[in-house]
Amino acid sequence: MGANILIVEDEARLARFLELELDHEGYAVTRAADGREGLEAALSGPFDLILLDVMLPGLNGLEVLRRLRNEKDTPVLLLTARDAVMDKVSGLDMGANDYITKPFSIEELLARIRAALRTGAPNIRRTAVLRCGALTLDPARHTAAYGDAPLTLTYKEFLLLQTLLENRDIVQTRDMLLEKVWGYDYAGETNVVDVYIRYLRQKLDDAFGVKLIHTVRGVGYVLKGDEP
Ligand code: CA
Repeated sequence: MGANILIVEDEARLARFLELELDHEGYAVTRAADGREGLEAALSGPFDLILLDVMLPGLNGLEVLRRLRNEKDTPVLLLTARDAVMDKVSGLDMGANDYITKPFSIEELLARIRAALRTGAPNIRRTAVLRCGALTLDPARHTAAYGDAPLTLTYKEFLLLQTLLENRDIVQTRDMLLEKVWGYDYAGETNVVDVYIRYLRQKLDDAFGVKLIHTVRGVGYVLKGDEP
């Protein structure tokens, strides 16, 4: 049995073409023609992979992805317009596995599909609620708070904080964090860890006047309780 793939694409001719090609490759294909229909299908169906167009009527692809990630970690491959750099960055940050830029060749798409199916769900770990002093993080509900104040975190910020909390008091090198949060095959900027640590500090340490995230110079970062 081939994998179950959901195509969310409003361009009927492209959607039909993709359906035929994927069907020919032995995949079981379902189609949705707009964002709302796509989200509904994605939430209810047992899909192994979702091909998600970004420019969709009703609910755009990134919004579909954001809502999907509150509930499920089905792998997502984004179909983005050329030069839509922000879409790619926010898409990956919101938990897309990968993106492919239109127009693409079917061979390239099939290769990306195989890669995404191999990698499987993005690195979401659902465990018990993690705590450090007033800081709490609930992986299952994808929520974090400091005291009663909810933290508004992007997908990667959340994973980074979760990783630091899971390794409380244990220094994490940049490479360890890169591997755990961005994955083995991450090929982007290597200072991405420092950038996201800065975002987290703004939302946590700076916002609440505490010091939880510590820099270990030349090594990496560690999260420690701020109680004396
Ligand atoms: Ca479109």
